Amino acid sequence: MNYLSTRGDATPRKFCDILLAGLAPDGGLYLPERYPQVGARLAELRRIHAEQGYAALAFEILSLYIDDIPPADLRALCEKTYTEEVFGTREIVPLRRLEEGLYLQALSNGPTLAFKDMAMQLLGNLFEYELARRGEELNILGATSGDTGSAAEYAMRGKRGIRVFMTSPHGRMSPFQQAQMFSLQDENIHNIAIEGVFDDCQDIVKAVSNDHAFKARYRIGTVNSINWARLLAQVVYYFAGYFQATGSEDQKVSFTVPSGNFGNVCAGHVARQMGLPIERLVVATNENDVLDEFFRTGVYRVRGAEHTYETSSPSMDISKASNFERFVFDLLGRDGAATRALFEQGVAQQGRFDLRGDARFADVARRFGFASGRSTHADRLATIRDTWERFGTMIDTHTADGLKVAREQQGDAGVPMIVLETALPIKFESTIVEALGRAPERPARFEGIEQLPKRVTVLPADAQQVKDYIAAHCGG
Ligand SMILES: *Cc1c(COP(=O)(O)O)cnc(C)c1O
Repeated sequence: MNYLSTRGDATPRKFCDILLAGLAPDGGLYLPERYPQVGARLAELRRIHAEQGYAALAFEILSLYIDDIPPADLRALCEKTYTEEVFGTREIVPLRRLEEGLYLQALSNGPTLAFKDMAMQLLGNLFEYELARRGEELNILGATSGDTGSAAEYAMRGKRGIRVFMTSPHGRMSPFQQAQMFSLQDENIHNIAIEGVFDDCQDIVKAVSNDHAFKARYRIGTVNSINWARLLAQVVYYFAGYFQATGSEDQKVSFTVPSGNFGNVCAGHVARQMGLPIERLVVATNENDVLDEFFRTGVYRVRGAEHTYETSSPSMDISKASNFERFVFDLLGRDGAATRALFEQGVAQQGRFDLRGDARFADVARRFGFASGRSTHADRLATIRDTWERFGTMIDTHTADGLKVAREQQGDAGVPMIVLETALPIKFESTIVEALGRAPERPARFEGIEQLPKRVTVLPADAQQVKDYIAAHCGG
């Protein structure tokens, strides 16, 4: 399998060439040159999943896209990643029935209690494998306001050839999030609390990355959400959800996905393109409704900082959806020049593009199954309360956005609707208390983590001081 760029560069690249890369050189995102078709193999995949489990299913899906890692090694990487020990259950992504035709699929029982672990844990093992094979090292520099940084740290801790330098705004993450990250004692994990806000952290990462000499000398890389390997890892749980909700291959399911950067639901799109019988893919947003607006109207209009709201489902507070270009490329019939025009002249220069009246957009629901909806703080509170009172199930704020929208879009009663649960409620305690008047339960392994010793260095919002810190701690 070769990979190409959404902006037209079709230089053939293999999986491991793009594993450690960010954007393609022409500014586009990498995609496989085609989607392997599994329609005829679905029954066999179902049997593999039932008999050998999630890791074996992951190997089957991944091996369709990765031909530059020997199969035995790839299988071993999958088996090392998706274990009951790391993900809490034998099923890895168990399905829970809420009511007739409506299910929650748990994706958040990994080390940091959010679905990002599903991909990041695999990425950590892939990075370690590939770096060892090349005899190289990598220093991952990132900025986080919570979820992504901790998922990256838990995936990379103790990995050979990798160090993580994670900046976060000093004193601004929740006590639980701080404890999760700062209690890691691994030598290759460096928490840097910046005296500033999240934007200062992002500016520092940009400044360091733009210093090309420094970047090359200290082998600086990232683990951002546009990484194809992360997306590919997420494709697997759509299959696992489908197999759990159905008994045979003539049945269909729909998914509702709490969305921000369009990474999670884009993996659903890939699964559907491969021939998984998905009826509809419902994109759920919060008040930051860039994506809902697009699917309702055909207008993609990115927001400025002043119109990006801080909400109680903060991991979906985005102003533009960094993975969206992948879907647009497919929507435009894989026309790289047309995609380039929409994102370079449209998004980059005017902050928008408009596909109203374009026949390809008019067909988006029928051809690609997409639908969308939006949820607000009041909806989250009501949904969390209702789900607790009627089913005794506590859900987090992002999952609540999904469930609210799923009910509106459920449609055909014969088609099960699966809502992806993207985090556990303990991560967003204050909103749960607001909704229910009680705190969420805490998994035993997180009891008392706020009291553990913390490993963190506080630095001013100054890129040079961050560079000095990296230089002093990366043995290079
Ligand atoms: C990252 C995140 C999302 C959004 O996922 P995307 O892939 O960016 O669309 C939703 N919920 C939670 C809890 C997250 O951490």
